Amino acid sequence: MVDMQWDWIGWVVAAIATMFAIRGSIRFDINEWLKDRRRRQEEQLENLCPHISVFKKDGKFVIRSTYISPPGTEAWQCQMCGHVTYDGHAIEQGQRYWAENPDELMKRNKRIKKLARKLGRI
Ligand SMILES: [Zn+2]
Repeated sequence: MVDMQWDWIGWVVAAIATMFAIRGSIRFDINEWLKDRRRRQEEQLENLCPHISVFKKDGKFVIRSTYISPPGTEAWQCQMCGHVTYDGHAIEQGQRYWAENPDELMKRNKRIKKLARKLGRI
């Protein structure tokens, strides 16, 4: 009986020692991790963003580009995701694409709103 008890204590000591060893090796910085996660979410937002907002006007859905051009610049910046472009033609093309695929746009908008809320953009 005495032997078994010592065995048990030995296991506990080994388990605690292992825990300390693991904690030491995967010590991570929570702030660094949060910053990383935020950066990833921002990238995701930019990739998902249709750069289009949808609203209802006279009972019909209307889409509008979320790009605005800050005064004095040639650049266009998306109000939703922060993406910057100098290509007005690409913006128009994007608008045309989403106008032809309203279902996909609605789905995309739902996902993007969730993500934007997480990031505190809306
Ligand atoms: Zn955007």
